[in-house]
Amino acid sequence: MFEDFKFEVDSDKPVNGIVEKEFVRKFLLGGNCHCNIENMRTGNNFTYKIQRAKDKRNMYFVNVLSGLGDIYLGYFYVNANLIDYRKGEKGNADENDQRVQVLVWTLTNHKRLPSYVIVEHFGKCSVCGAPLSDADSSRRGYCSTCALMI
Ligand SMILES: [Zn+2]
Repeated sequence: MFEDFKFEVDSDKPVNGIVEKEFVRKFLLGGNCHCNIENMRTGNNFTYKIQRAKDKRNMYFVNVLSGLGDIYLGYFYVNANLIDYRKGEKGNADENDQRVQVLVWTLTNHKRLPSYVIVEHFGKCSVCGAPLSDADSSRRGYCSTCALMI
């Protein structure tokens, strides 16, 4: 009786959604990721922009969005499952900063994320920015077209 169910999203109004665990790492490393990571146990709740460097496939810049605005934290390199974070000269957070730790921990532990850690997208593909307009895309955090490429 649920076969006719259709997931409908008004593309003018992106809808937030929770990224399923198996897609978390690809979602976060999509290159153009806007997300929220919440740890319901510790109460940590941070909103990130994680953007891939244009000239380096494994380098990402991290910003946090908060009431204080958009703050550049630093950058990291991805080498297999190792996340090598650096504050750099212009960064505002070293590796001991909670905002950094939550992100690095989530990336490193993506295969065994506990249920109290919630990774949420804001309705846009983390690769190309297209609206996530179907249920599969919403579960992944990236669109069907990009799913074929990453
Ligand atoms: Zn896409």
